Amino acid sequence: MAAARRVAEEYARPDVHTVAAAARAGDGRIVTAVNVYHFTGGPCAELVVIGAAAGQGVYELTAMVAVSSRDMSVVPPCGRCRQVLIDYFPGIEVLVQPAGRLERLPIAELLPGAFSRSAPR
Ligand SMILES: [Zn+2]
Repeated sequence: MAAARRVAEEYARPDVHTVAAAARAGDGRIVTAVNVYHFTGGPCAELVVIGAAAGQGVYELTAMVAVSSRDMSVVPPCGRCRQVLIDYFPGIEVLVQPAGRLERLPIAELLPGAFSRSAPR
């Protein structure tokens, strides 16, 4: 969370980058990024983190958190990001803060009954 907040404070331009995210890699590295707001549906910070990690050769993420660049509050992942996270990192844990209490939840708990490409149709 400290890494995400640092990125939000130091690099987020308020009109473009409204959320910062940080992920812990399997080897302990922290990868950070910001969202790219655009009316056509720019990528969320979580998705930019995944790309930034891959750009550093990091393909295993174990934890993720996103914070608002406006007030530094924890932002839960949107539905699209939950699906991407469960597809790419089924064991990842996500920091969320419902009712003000910080929790670290497995992604499967944030997307019960998730779509699976291997599920019968
Ligand atoms: Zn999202």
